[in-house]
Amino acid sequence: MTRYAFEPAPATSVAIQGRAERFPVRRVYCVGRNYEAHVREMGHDPDRSPPIFFCKPADAVVEVADGEEGRFPYPGETSNCHHEIELVVAIGEGGRDIPQDQARRHIFGYAIGLDMTRRDLQRAAAKAGQPWETGKAFDASAPMGPIHAVQDTGYLDTGALSLHVNGETRQQADLSQLIWNVDETIATLSRLFELQPGDLIFSGTPEGVGVGEVRRGDVMSGRFDGLGELRVRVI
Ligand code: MN
Repeated sequence: MTRYAFEPAPATSVAIQGRAERFPVRRVYCVGRNYEAHVREMGHDPDRSPPIFFCKPADAVVEVADGEEGRFPYPGETSNCHHEIELVVAIGEGGRDIPQDQARRHIFGYAIGLDMTRRDLQRAAAKAGQPWETGKAFDASAPMGPIHAVQDTGYLDTGALSLHVNGETRQQADLSQLIWNVDETIATLSRLFELQPGDLIFSGTPEGVGVGEVRRGDVMSGRFDGLGELRVRVI
């Protein structure tokens, strides 16, 4: 039996809707600039240049149970924290160099997630040619709802994705508007990293983050057709 110098951190896991078993999280990959109008609002030209990938630590995931209101602690060292609503793809079967037409076999299910962002730190880092971690990979930066198994949802190519703050619509798009669709994203990512069961992919956020700032007390409500609601209060 392995003896540790101290108790290892507990593994992150997320509920699976309608099942007793939980989904153990291994890695969290995120896609940047994946909806045209969002690319424009961030000051770039949308094109088919390769997708931008970055990671968050697995323990940045904060699970919000179905029908409950989660809590997002406003992070330190920022005065411009933004929401990014995203469809999360959960990987159930690993692989490398996955062909695009085989990508679906690797999908376990889907969830609604928030890629919370310290926009001021991210912009400063990008401007200086520095990494994005302090802007993107901070503690509790990835609130998400339960995973819905693909057996229940079918494969998702379309579906309305939206984010509302205190009842006001802030972000809205259809999954079909992704620049790099889910199959292409899985194929491309698997050429860079060997995917494993338990990996999560935040697939990118639509436009509207230009007004995406949150303040303490705000209630964010993310929705995706068929996946219910992700409700999170900023505290
Ligand atoms: Mn994002």
